[in-house]
Amino acid sequence: MMDTHYSILGCSDGSSFEEIKKRYQELALKYHPDKAIISNEQDREKFVLINQAWNVLREPDTRLKYDAELKHLESISNPLIYSTVEVRDLEYDKECNIYFYPCRCGSVYNIHKDELSPPEYLLECNDCSFCLLIKV
Ligand SMILES: [Zn+2]
Repeated sequence: MMDTHYSILGCSDGSSFEEIKKRYQELALKYHPDKAIISNEQDREKFVLINQAWNVLREPDTRLKYDAELKHLESISNPLIYSTVEVRDLEYDKECNIYFYPCRCGSVYNIHKDELSPPEYLLECNDCSFCLLIKV
């Protein structure tokens, strides 16, 4: 799980402005180099991160933009699985050694027999954001 501006402030992307502001104020106080009883390198870094997060999340415009970036990152790390199938569920072209499976977008997943690596193969659709998970 990567750190986001939200997780740094101990909030979520559903948190209200007031909640985020309150958390920021608490953390900024805790990690402020002038206030901290023992100020070490880690705390100073944390203070920088807290301020970076706040500077993005405090403005509705930059927060929206950041939310969009997060969504994009999430879609890469958590693929949308259209269906989980076994090799025998796929259509097979014996002459070309290619397996086929229809995607819900109207496109067709296709993969060469030699590319299928066990135990699972995640095949991306060329035309939409869905993936087919093939149990090999
Ligand atoms: Zn598709």
